[in-house]
Amino acid sequence: MKATSPPNVSRAGRNLGAMGAVTPGLVCSHHHLYSTLARGMPAPPRTPTGFAEILEQIWWRLDTALDLDMLRASARLGAVEALLAGTTGIVDHHESPNAIEGSLDVIADACAEVGVRTSLAYGVTDRHGPDGARRGLAENERFLRAGGRGMVGVHAAFTCTDDTLAAAAGLAAELGVGVHIHVAEGSPDEAAGARLEPLAADDWLIVHCVRLDRELPGLLAHNPRSNMNNAVGYGRPARKRNDVVLGTDGIGADMLEEFRLAYVAHRADDVTASPDTAWSWITNGYRLLPECEGDRVTWSYDHADSPWHVAFTPGIRALDVVAADGEVLVEGGRPTRVHLDEVRAHAAEQAARLFALL
Ligand SMILES: [Zn+2]
Repeated sequence: MKATSPPNVSRAGRNLGAMGAVTPGLVCSHHHLYSTLARGMPAPPRTPTGFAEILEQIWWRLDTALDLDMLRASARLGAVEALLAGTTGIVDHHESPNAIEGSLDVIADACAEVGVRTSLAYGVTDRHGPDGARRGLAENERFLRAGGRGMVGVHAAFTCTDDTLAAAAGLAAELGVGVHIHVAEGSPDEAAGARLEPLAADDWLIVHCVRLDRELPGLLAHNPRSNMNNAVGYGRPARKRNDVVLGTDGIGADMLEEFRLAYVAHRADDVTASPDTAWSWITNGYRLLPECEGDRVTWSYDHADSPWHVAFTPGIRALDVVAADGEVLVEGGRPTRVHLDEVRAHAAEQAARLFALL
């Protein structure tokens, strides 16, 4: 599809009387729905001074504290917020080392309840010993063999043994899916290229690749806000040979916002950059969740289908979202299947439990 115009955009497709442009549903191609409750979490004991300490002191404390009730609340709120931003599909990468079994079903059910399409993966890691890695792998296998949609997840090469990496790649190949893995996000994972080179395949989703020292096959998921927030540097995705998709790495699922950041990060590196490039990273998400292309979002702005407009127009909102089968999922900026206040109250209650543990 051409990067300059989203496919099948039709102003005649308006069916709820709203004023703005209509586009297909958007895809967040790398998310962590388990992190929705993290906003406002208690500060770590000391200020992290680099990427490794951010992982150790924030994310690995958070994921260890999660149980399935917290996860459900986190995924529901994340799914509602996605839908309200016109994002009808989420490619999620999950970890909850003390609540592994069944966790992918909890996320799948929470998103289905709201009306968001998903591709899910459990991030296998040896951080919690070989038994933790085995159980993570088993959760991927259980979910996928039962008909769940997703990929085999791996946290990152630097937290896995070679045996675990080979087992994940082998399981993915056996099940006919790719591997969804963080790759060379920061300096601790600089050996990822060498270790993954014998394993990686075209159907892998390789995330970040900021410090990647060679080419690897797969779709490359770029997450500009997260990369800036972790001060890991700019991966220059436009210069890679891989096709690029856009993710948020768990910081919401507002893809027009992430597109603006992707564009301006690209521009900061190359003043000749056009927003058409970052726009193509959004539309490449249909490779992962093609049905989202049949969903319809009516926006609060008349040129929400134009990269040059959107790049310079913050605050565009989704007014109505209609699924490909005609079901109205958002009407007048409110979700139709769930009560927003109830979802927020549930999230607040579970966040309080989570923060007490932290
Ligand atoms: Zn991530």
